[in-house]
Amino acid sequence: MSKEELRHCPKCGGAAKVRYCMPYTWVECKKCGLKSTVVSDWYEQHDPESRKAAIEDWNTMEIVDIN
Ligand SMILES: [Zn+2]
Repeated sequence: MSKEELRHCPKCGGAAKVRYCMPYTWVECKKCGLKSTVVSDWYEQHDPESRKAAIEDWNTMEIVDIN
């Protein structure tokens, strides 16, 4: 049931992974460290909805170049 499709990093094209550090969930690029929105997972640890929200954010994130 847990279909997780993480797109490649929109900034550097590297692989991304879901990170979890209580009480937060987010998606981070393994290469450049780009992060999605951090979702608080305080009430229900490892809440699949929080994970889903972080993935959703990562997959829809627009990249603004910061020089
Ligand atoms: Zn990256």
